[in-house]
Amino acid sequence: MAEDAERNDDMADDEEQPELDEVDQEETAEEPHKIDKAPRISLKNPVGLIVNTRMLRRIVQILFFVGINVYILVSWVGGEEILAFWEGLRDILPTLPIIAPLEGSFAVLAGTFDTLQRELTGGFFPFFTIGAMIIILTILGRSACGWICPIGTVQDFATLPNRSKVRPAPGTEKELRRIKAYIFFIVGFLAAWVGISTVLGNEEALVNVLGPFANGAFDPFSPAYIVFVEFANQNWPVSLETLWYVTQWGWFTAQFAFVALIVIVSFWIPRWFCRWICPAGWLYGVFSRSALFSIGRNPARCTPDTCNVCEVVCPMNIRIRRFPYQHMHSADCILCLDCRSHCPNKAIVIRFS
Ligand code: SF4
Ligand code: SF4
Repeated sequence: MAEDAERNDDMADDEEQPELDEVDQEETAEEPHKIDKAPRISLKNPVGLIVNTRMLRRIVQILFFVGINVYILVSWVGGEEILAFWEGLRDILPTLPIIAPLEGSFAVLAGTFDTLQRELTGGFFPFFTIGAMIIILTILGRSACGWICPIGTVQDFATLPNRSKVRPAPGTEKELRRIKAYIFFIVGFLAAWVGISTVLGNEEALVNVLGPFANGAFDPFSPAYIVFVEFANQNWPVSLETLWYVTQWGWFTAQFAFVALIVIVSFWIPRWFCRWICPAGWLYGVFSRSALFSIGRNPARCTPDTCNVCEVVCPMNIRIRRFPYQHMHSADCILCLDCRSHCPNKAIVIRFS
C-alpha cells in the first residue's frame, strides 16, 4: 500500500510535468545505483531469440531500406511482383514521414519532408502532403522513423553491438535537441522564399545565390539525399589507377565525410542524427506528440525506483520514468518498442487512445 501511495505521488508529480524538456535539468544522467548497459539477451527461450519485436523491426527496416530504392534490386535480380508491390504501396502512400528523396535514380518511395521542400520551392502549397502527413502522424506517431526511415535504420545497425553508450546530461541533451528545430525553420524559410519568388516570377537571382540550397535547403546535408542521389552520380574509382577520381569530388568529399560521421558517432550515441539534427524528425514530432498509438507503463508492474532498463535501451534517450504511467506523449518517441522488449517486468504497454 505504501508503495502504491508512493507511486501515485510520482504519477501526480509527473502529470504536472507535461513536457520532458521541462524536467528538472539539474538532475544528472548518471545514476550510479542503476543499470547503465542494456541487459544481455537471455538464452533460456531460443524461440524468443528469433520471434520477437526487435527481430521483426530489423526485418521491416531491411525490407524498407531495400524497398525505398527497389529499382536497384529489380535491376539486379528481376522480379515484376516485387516491383508491383512497392509501386502499389507508392500509389496508396506517395509520401511517408521519413527522409527519402524521390530524385534518386532508383527511388520508388519519397519522404514527406523531402516532398514538402520540393512543393514549396516549386511555388505550390502542399495541401495534400501536409494533410496525409498529419493523418499518419496523429494515428501512428513517429513509428515510420522507428521502423522505416533508411537513415534511422543505418544508425540503429551501427549501434547494434553491445557497446557502452554515451548519454549526455539532460541539460545538454535538451540544448542539442534544439538544433533540429533551428535547422527546420531556416530550411522552411528558404523554401517559402524561393516558392514565393517563383510565384512572382522573379526567382532567378535568388536561385543563383542559393545554388545547391535553392531546390531544398536541407538536401546538401541530408544523408538520404547524399546517399541515394549524390553517391550514384559520383565518378567512383574502380581501381588504383582511377583513385585520383576522388580529387574531383569537391563538395561531395565533405558530404561523404558527414555521412561517415553519422555512422561512426552512432556506434556510441544511438540515433544522434535523429535526436539532434534531423529537421524532418522535428516536424514529425510536432504532429505525433498526441498520437493515438503510444506507449505507457503498467503501474502495478513498473518499479521505477529500482529499475531504469527502459531508459538505458531507449535509442532516443527519453527519460521514460518521468512521464505519466498512462501515456508517454513524447515528440521524440519513435515507437521502436525497444523499451518494451527489454523491460524485465513487462511493464511497458502499447496504448491506442
Ligand atoms: S528523425 Fe531519424 S528516422 Fe526520423 S526522418 Fe529523421 S533521420 Fe529518419
Ligand atoms: S520510449 Fe520506448 S518506444 Fe519510444 S523511442 Fe524510447 S525505446 Fe523506443
